[in-house]
Amino acid sequence: MPADLPDLPYPRDLSFLLQRRYGLLATAAALTVPTASLFAADTPPPPPSSPPSPSESVRPRALAVPGGIVRLSLGPAAMRPMARQGDMPLLVLGDPIEWTAVVGIPLSAEPGMGRITVSAPGTPRDIPYPIQAKRYAEQRLKVAPGQVDLSPEDEARYNRERAHLATVMATFSEPPPPSHDLAMRAPVEGRRSGPFGLRRVFNGQSRNPHSGMDIAAPTGTPVRAPLAGRVIDTGDYFFNGQTVWLDHGSGLLTMVCHLSASDVKPGDSVSAGDVFAAVGATGRVTGPHLHWSVMLNRAMVDPALFLRDGS
Ligand code: ZN
Repeated sequence: MPADLPDLPYPRDLSFLLQRRYGLLATAAALTVPTASLFAADTPPPPPSSPPSPSESVRPRALAVPGGIVRLSLGPAAMRPMARQGDMPLLVLGDPIEWTAVVGIPLSAEPGMGRITVSAPGTPRDIPYPIQAKRYAEQRLKVAPGQVDLSPEDEARYNRERAHLATVMATFSEPPPPSHDLAMRAPVEGRRSGPFGLRRVFNGQSRNPHSGMDIAAPTGTPVRAPLAGRVIDTGDYFFNGQTVWLDHGSGLLTMVCHLSASDVKPGDSVSAGDVFAAVGATGRVTGPHLHWSVMLNRAMVDPALFLRDGS
């Protein structure tokens, strides 16, 4: 797959083309992109008419939809309560006056009721919460019938990487983030070239939705840590290219992909705003950009919910 295809108006990663079942790699020149549909459906909320209260300004912003986040009050307790969603431990922030579970909702979640379990001292209790429907923008792609199967070597490589990344994504470390406000800065400035949640329909068949935010930026643009954290993985992966994962504590992870360079290794600590990598076009991409993902309790959630300006 060539890295630069001038006929595509928006550089983006092509990981959605991954189909283990079909092993398809698109002929990128055959992609057709209906640009008008790219940004249509995901309209931001209207600006507040008055200055937000301190609690409203805390990030992440709550948005109870698939790919969103809920903040659930656990009440007062002398010790930090343990909370889980299914088997997944959850991020719990606060103090003995008021604890809050900050829960990522998977993009694959069905609208309806979600549920967490709190095992505070005393009796475990369930806390239900509603999940609203959200219709993310859709992108329809057509690929010429001459698709190529992944080679056996690439398939084997991808399967190894999948297994490795599953262990990375299972990271749940202590302590939790030091602040109850998890506002992040975007790792690079630039036009948002691929929105989170974009539903991709490939020759009429639905594929995995876009699980991060694409930001257009030239190769070499410095990539900054969105929040203080610790490097837990670096590598050069088949689809994601050069990648760095940061652990911010208690299951809050961020990932940047398609890098041209990084100067960190697992175990390194970064402060918010530290430059640790550079934008590139490695992996399966059509041009230089940064793919940025935010993961909470192993759910990929919308990075925009963590940005102070919300954009
Ligand atoms: Zn992307």
